[in-house]
Amino acid sequence: MKLLFATNNPNKLKEVQAKLPQYEIVSLQELGITEEIPETGTTLEENALIKARYLYQKFQLDCFADDTGLEIESLNNEPGVFSARYAGNEKSAEANMEKVLTKLKGKTNRKARFRTAIALIQGGNERVVEGIVNGKIIEEKRGNGGFGYDPIFVADGHDETFAQLSLDIKNKIGHRGLAVDELVKCL
Ligand code: IMP
Repeated sequence: MKLLFATNNPNKLKEVQAKLPQYEIVSLQELGITEEIPETGTTLEENALIKARYLYQKFQLDCFADDTGLEIESLNNEPGVFSARYAGNEKSAEANMEKVLTKLKGKTNRKARFRTAIALIQGGNERVVEGIVNGKIIEEKRGNGGFGYDPIFVADGHDETFAQLSLDIKNKIGHRGLAVDELVKCL
């Protein structure tokens, strides 16, 4: 059975496919969609729904989409839905991390969480699930793995940043993995 996934990220595709062997997970690229689906929502849930509805309207097949944000407590949950472009449209991970570290300078509350929302449209019915990993933002970048804000995020119960953990462990304890587990329960 086919399940469309509004992504072109090969790592996300692989991670989801491994957890849903009974489905054929189909990416945007395989569907011939080269344009970026505009993420005009004001929440992660809205953006995930926008992307899933885009696919459903085009293909009328079961589909899902995800959206992730880093939410920092003392910054009123910024960057949140703006995580990719926090420091500008270049989507520079380095500039984004610098902006976070600068804004947190002198603040004692460094609590943060990654949150992933996944919107699923199955037989025309919409559902949204989420995955959350709580942690903190450290003072300086550490580690070379991962992407985005990984070098400055340490999950609760761990000493290493997401950029220092193996991908296996990050996927197990991380926001996206947890959200995908919720998705699997819906299917
Ligand atoms: P997306 O919704 O998965 O495209 O994520 C939006 C943005 O959130 C990315 O551009 C990254 O800046 C950040 N982000 C998402 N997932 C992660 C992660 O696992 N580690 C670090 N940053 C992430």
